[in-house]
Amino acid sequence: MAITAGPLNNLRQRRDVDLIVPDDSRYEEARRVWNAMIDRRPGAIARPRTADAVAACVQLARTENLPVAVRGGGHNIAGRCVCDDGIVIDFADMKGIRVDAGARTARAEPGLRWLEFDRETQAVGLATTGGTVGDTGIAGLTLGGGFGWLEGKFGMTVDNLIGADVVLADGRLVHASNRENDDLFWALRGGGGNFGVVTSFEYQLHEVGPAIVGGLVVHPFPRAKEALRFFRDFLHDAPGELVAAAVLMTAPDGQQACGIAVAYPGDVAEGERLVAPLKQFGPPVMDVIGRMPYLAQQSLIDAAMPPNVLNYWKAEFLRDVSDELIDAAVDGFARVPSPMSSILFFPIRGAASRVAPDATAFPHRNGFHVGVYSLWTDASQNDPNISWVRQTWRAIQPLSSGGVYVNELGDDEGADRVRMAYGPNYDRLQRIKAKYDPRNLFCQNANIAPVGV
Ligand SMILES: Cc1cc2nc3c(=O)[nH]c(=O)nc-3n(C[C@H](O)[C@H](O)[C@H](O)COP(=O)(O)OP(=O)(O)OC[C@H]3O[C@@H](n4cnc5c(N)ncnc54)[C@H](O)[C@@H]3O)c2cc1C
Repeated sequence: MAITAGPLNNLRQRRDVDLIVPDDSRYEEARRVWNAMIDRRPGAIARPRTADAVAACVQLARTENLPVAVRGGGHNIAGRCVCDDGIVIDFADMKGIRVDAGARTARAEPGLRWLEFDRETQAVGLATTGGTVGDTGIAGLTLGGGFGWLEGKFGMTVDNLIGADVVLADGRLVHASNRENDDLFWALRGGGGNFGVVTSFEYQLHEVGPAIVGGLVVHPFPRAKEALRFFRDFLHDAPGELVAAAVLMTAPDGQQACGIAVAYPGDVAEGERLVAPLKQFGPPVMDVIGRMPYLAQQSLIDAAMPPNVLNYWKAEFLRDVSDELIDAAVDGFARVPSPMSSILFFPIRGAASRVAPDATAFPHRNGFHVGVYSLWTDASQNDPNISWVRQTWRAIQPLSSGGVYVNELGDDEGADRVRMAYGPNYDRLQRIKAKYDPRNLFCQNANIAPVGV
């Protein structure tokens, strides 16, 4: 459904929104998202600079019955931030951030990436749990849950959200927090982009760094099973504040390998003591674990996840890194077609796991997120790379704890997988959706059907 010129005129006349339509020279670049598999052509891409302009975009979509997608950092693997036809509300021009060092809070606009957010908060020695790749948007990650290196000490990103300004489906701008619209606030913290368009996030910050203990060790692939068992036991014995993740990958020398990355955001001497077993095991073929700036930890794996390459992912939550899981993952990785692909094991632990599953809309408060990630560059190789993910995931999936991360659902996953992502919170989310978006205007997401629809 193309958008006719008339309805767009209202937006065109505003000074606080930049409109990019298909004949604009910027259109091709503007419609592109992180995953190069996604190829959608919106009728218009609106880049608002104020909350009022966001409300005007939402009004337009509602009155003209247009599909509307919302874009933060553009990283979502399913590419849900861009739709065919309809209108994209793209926050590329809303990247403001105000840090209150005294109150240890930050108000941040949804166009920011974690790298940009972290730089501002670290300037005054503060941080909150964010994503592990600097280029990822704060908006989508926050609304889906947000695991990261600080989760063990401070909880997930949703646990550090203390308020949000939201444009609702009817165009009203409201505030959501524990004191105002608390049902909406609960739903925003894990319910994806289902409930409205967030124009500002307010986060709790904490003292972090600037130096922490972090980094990565790498073991040769023939010892991957042993290294993963060590990783499991090491984490079991470590304090919850220490977060470590394992990854099956291909090292820069072209050899397959098993990496273990770690972060301890507390006292540096204590961190060095805690990571000593990680450095001793093996020994590793590469060891860059030690004292480092928190900002360096936050970009540790950036180079391994570049933008604009072809991606196909499947993920699952598992209770533990069992021997069966290790066998399935390592045997699967031995057959990986692309050297850019990986299998990630990221725990939900410490403070993140002490939050009740129904305290926020994000329910998966224990165990491990396992991601099977294919990345490749040659489109003629789509089939083997997609098949590898599906085959490897099929071997892992029977070990599932029954959950999947909403932020890593692919665009080919059905309603049952969407339900799994919200788990036991789905019914409550449906009722809140019916209150705030009864006509399901915001449906370009892992969609929660309003009750009765
Ligand atoms: C390389 C890479 C690394 C990652 N690492 C992590 C990680 O360490 N931890 C983690 O938890 N996740 C991680 N993820 C997953 C990440 O959380 C999701 O991809 C998330 O959707 C990214 O947010 P975004 O704003 O960049 O995405 P976008 O694609 O812009 O947005 C995703 C969806 O969020 C909603 N949305 C976005 N902005 C708004 C808004 N302002 N108001 C309302 N709804 C909105 C929309 O429904 C949109 O479709 C990673 C992803 C990638 C690709």
